[in-house]
Amino acid sequence: MLPVLQSVINDLRKRDPMQYEFHQAVEEVWHAVNTFLEHNPRYCDQSLLESLVEPERIIIFRIPWVDDNGRLQVNRGYRVQMNSAIGPYKGGLRFHPSVNLSVLKFLAFEQTFKNALTTLPLGSAKGGADFDPKGKSDNEVRRFCQSMMNELYRHIGPTTDIPAGDIGVGAREIGYLYGQYRRLNNLVEQGVITGKGLAYGGSRMRTEATGYGLIYFIAEMLAHIGDGLKGKTVCISGSGNVAQYAAEKLLNEGAKVLSLSDSGGTLYVKDGLTREMLETIKQLKNEERGRLEQWAEQHNLTFYSDQRPWQIACDIALPCATQNELELDDAKALITNDCQLVAEGANMPCSNDAIIALQKHQVLYAPGKASNAGGVATSGLEMTQNRQGYFWPAEQVDAKLREIMQQIHADCLTYSPAIKGTVDYQCGANVAGFVKVADAMIAQGYL
Ligand code: GLU
Repeated sequence: MLPVLQSVINDLRKRDPMQYEFHQAVEEVWHAVNTFLEHNPRYCDQSLLESLVEPERIIIFRIPWVDDNGRLQVNRGYRVQMNSAIGPYKGGLRFHPSVNLSVLKFLAFEQTFKNALTTLPLGSAKGGADFDPKGKSDNEVRRFCQSMMNELYRHIGPTTDIPAGDIGVGAREIGYLYGQYRRLNNLVEQGVITGKGLAYGGSRMRTEATGYGLIYFIAEMLAHIGDGLKGKTVCISGSGNVAQYAAEKLLNEGAKVLSLSDSGGTLYVKDGLTREMLETIKQLKNEERGRLEQWAEQHNLTFYSDQRPWQIACDIALPCATQNELELDDAKALITNDCQLVAEGANMPCSNDAIIALQKHQVLYAPGKASNAGGVATSGLEMTQNRQGYFWPAEQVDAKLREIMQQIHADCLTYSPAIKGTVDYQCGANVAGFVKVADAMIAQGYL
């Protein structure tokens, strides 16, 4: 690795030794842009690189809320405002017990390059809380969201910072958060948050966008090598928003979905998930907030407790759950089973050694900052509609989403080094995002 890149990462490790996920995300980007920087000394500037890894601002705050037993609970809330060189801060909120500064800094750092790739003027941020929505009543979730917004509202706005959902934050939470923002601000500013319901400023297709966008992206990857999705076997991890809509689109395209998973383990459907099964799983996850294990039992299907899907033989693997859910041993199993393509629906689901192993064995690999960018891209389209005071038809949003995913694919090709006839999507995506943000920072005096 170039000494300047090495030096920046060494400093990070010294300064914040416990932020492992953040170090991992920076290392992944540095590894991917290293060769490009060797040939482009304009970007080999210590101050520029240091600015890229240092958030512009971090807000940490107390979130007190009253549970159903009348007890006051306290959680920790965060907003990492990472980079506004190309647009206002933009990125989701995550509610999960694992949320800490390392996780949110890694997510905000990833968001910088992802948002640049969308072709839209979006800066980067990420936020959330170490609140566990599992087992909480609707009223508890509402009180929590309102209390969180009581602090967050003063730091966000339609032209400064625009949150959205992520793990643990879906339509219900966005509704409660937006409602409280509107009340506190005494202004209807719909563009302050995205992922809203259609009745109050949401965009058609936003719910489907991350999963559909992922499938549009892999369709481009396959088309590039003269192949297609029809008849492919696909393992998906996760069963939340991204996994559900990736599965839906795959069924539309004639592929066979073999698995979904949750924190309890993996559902295996040997003959392929049907549309009817998927609809009841959506209901289970989005409304009843139930477990896949019970569902598998009720439907007489195989469930591998506490296991990931990666031992199942498949043509395509789509990790759509969370960070570091596909590690070296999982990559080896996929390679042994002749998996052809791995594309990330989640953020940083593959560990760095897993990525290296996949690429070494010519498995096509797409990093999340390219392949899952359809979600935030459609958030950008929601912001545009809010500015216009208008709603576009689903076909129009979907066509624009497809066009953006095609453009991201084309940008990956532009910046992929021409070696061994295969496309290096990791290099392509990271360099394309890096160049856009770095150019803007240089032009503005590094900020
Ligand atoms: N949380 C999503 C992501 O990881 C969406 C962010 C957004 O729409 O702002 O990109």
